[in-house]
Amino acid sequence: MTSQRYYRLGDTGAAVAEIRAKLATLGLLPADEATMGSAAMADAVFDAQVDQAVRCFQQQRALTVDGVVGPQTYRALDEARWKLGDRILQYSVSHLMSGDDVAQLQRRLLDMGFDCGRVDGIFGKDTERALREFQHNVGLAPDGQCGPRTLKALSRLSRTVVGGEPYAMRESEMIHQAGPSLHGKTVVIDPGHGGGDRGVVANGLEEAAVVWDLANRVEGRLAATGVQAYLTRGVEGELDEVARAHFANATGADLVISLHVDRHRNPVANGVAAYYYGNDRFGHHSAVGEKFAGLVQREIVARTGMLDCLTHERTWDLLRRTRMPAVRIELGYLTNPGDAARLADPGFRDTVAEAIVVAVQRLYLPPEDDAPTGMLHLPELIK
Ligand SMILES: [Zn+2]
Repeated sequence: MTSQRYYRLGDTGAAVAEIRAKLATLGLLPADEATMGSAAMADAVFDAQVDQAVRCFQQQRALTVDGVVGPQTYRALDEARWKLGDRILQYSVSHLMSGDDVAQLQRRLLDMGFDCGRVDGIFGKDTERALREFQHNVGLAPDGQCGPRTLKALSRLSRTVVGGEPYAMRESEMIHQAGPSLHGKTVVIDPGHGGGDRGVVANGLEEAAVVWDLANRVEGRLAATGVQAYLTRGVEGELDEVARAHFANATGADLVISLHVDRHRNPVANGVAAYYYGNDRFGHHSAVGEKFAGLVQREIVARTGMLDCLTHERTWDLLRRTRMPAVRIELGYLTNPGDAARLADPGFRDTVAEAIVVAVQRLYLPPEDDAPTGMLHLPELIK
């Protein structure tokens, strides 16, 4: 991602004008921004007001709230301008359509019981299949295109029917059908960053190296339980999150675990947190992602005594674009001397690796066979 631009407080120029205009369209800045002349555009400033508006937008969208417009925030700004009915939606292999209008369509299909998979705002094959099914059901030509006729049928029907959430049920059913044995399951482990991107560098440690080592410890333990484990990158690999998600999808994995450590300006900030796909805005989250995040969070906290920073919904690319439950663990703050000292300790990394593998096992165990948090040990799992 090094070639991508990042815009932040103090930046100026035409790109900043574009960001201001997008924020104005969304009602986060005064409306006159959208009609700025070209001379004014070159002088556009990323000021405190823009910083505040960007943070507000990131908060709404379950993105990292840092006030910086990087690739993900920029794409989210772009997607936010579409409302259902603005354009014809359809599946396109070469370039999947994405935007809020797609998410609105998915939400309506799901509410009526047509299983389009995740409400992720990306018009993929599952969305097309669900749309065709809907069209067939209401007597329209099932062409898989969401145009004027389909929209009319959608608005006529969707207000009257509010169903469950088939995706959440299907996800949970998949876990149940997969059975309790780890043997034969596939897990993708994603060591964050890599190559020229070292992630957080603080207290003599580099995030890319710490999570690489941890990923290998997790991989070894998973392999011992019969799991087919893949790492998204090699020791020197450099991949963006979209490429990592594509890799995970290509393996057909059951689960994705992404490993990171966090940073904060305040060295006192510390603790572990876990993230799964979800966006309140669209009233949707990954039920199994949430469950696994909770399990892994509780196992790590119980075994290490780290501060519990809880689990949260996010729309980060790796969580959004993977087709299977995915969880990102932020294992402490490298900027905190206490967390950093623990992360430097191979014994601590072993404890965390064990906690993660036990959480994987617990995800597949039926409730009656499950043991209390912190009680399962690896030798019991390798049967
Ligand atoms: Zn990271």
